[in-house]
Amino acid sequence: MAPQLSRQTENPATPYIGRFAPSPTGLLHIGSLLTAVASFADARAHGGLWRLRMEDLDPPREMAGAAAHILRTLEAFGFEWDGEVVYQSRRHELYRAVLDELRAQGRVYPCYCSRREVAEQARGMGVDGPLYGGRCAHGASATAKTPAWRIRVPAAVYGFGDAVVGHYQQQLAADVGDFVLLRADGFWAYQLAVVADDAEQGITHIVRGQDLLVSTPRQLFLQQCLGYVQPHYAHLPLLTNRLGQKWSKQTLAPAIDAAEAETLLRQVLHWLGLPEAPPVGHHRELLDWAVAHWRMAAVPKAAIVTEAGV
Ligand SMILES: [Zn+2]
Repeated sequence: MAPQLSRQTENPATPYIGRFAPSPTGLLHIGSLLTAVASFADARAHGGLWRLRMEDLDPPREMAGAAAHILRTLEAFGFEWDGEVVYQSRRHELYRAVLDELRAQGRVYPCYCSRREVAEQARGMGVDGPLYGGRCAHGASATAKTPAWRIRVPAAVYGFGDAVVGHYQQQLAADVGDFVLLRADGFWAYQLAVVADDAEQGITHIVRGQDLLVSTPRQLFLQQCLGYVQPHYAHLPLLTNRLGQKWSKQTLAPAIDAAEAETLLRQVLHWLGLPEAPPVGHHRELLDWAVAHWRMAAVPKAAIVTEAGV
């Protein structure tokens, strides 16, 4: 029995439900601010809702206190979100129900391969790591070890029209291979959690960074398997350093400081293709101004190169 997840029909007067979904692996940096502003402005410009989801699926990678700090920072910058903040760490039952549904459909299988065994049998490199060689795809002999769960992908093309990038597609079997939904260490894979959450939260429009573009065809496939409505997508340009590396915790992007809110917001609005905003009394007015002047068509596709993460 498929869980009834898509709630979009509950509120037909709100055809747009967007979201911002930070991971508490670090504090908000300028790249996350750009995503927050764009997803917020696009939602509000459409008269839509803007929901917040904390993607805290991977406790070993998380930073203590980061989730609360992210919420305080968003508030200080003037963002207001709709409804309660959703924490992925509290939704294991939902993810379990989705995996059970895919299992009932005969699409998933336990994989006992170690990381080394996955590398050894790889059919080559895909767009996001080694292509799984399929040793466990047709019934593995169970070992004492807890397996990962993989989904069998079809040799089919999954493509979509992105509001920033244009048409994007992958042939899942050739480009990605059978991918993991539940890791052997017991943590849920991002691909499964994000698809379940977007459907359960009734998300209609996904505005996020281009680092996730490579994941989208896998998510379209999962949505199709589960009978979910496919959201609209807009993948924003990444902020990179001069070496072309995305600003992130790993590349030492500094945390944004609310004391600099006006300067940082003006910088982000400029990068997003908005004209220069007039002087304001409070930086909150810059967000209102962005909503009033928002045009996704003005958002550039190419990466934005910036020094020192600001
Ligand atoms: Zn395996």
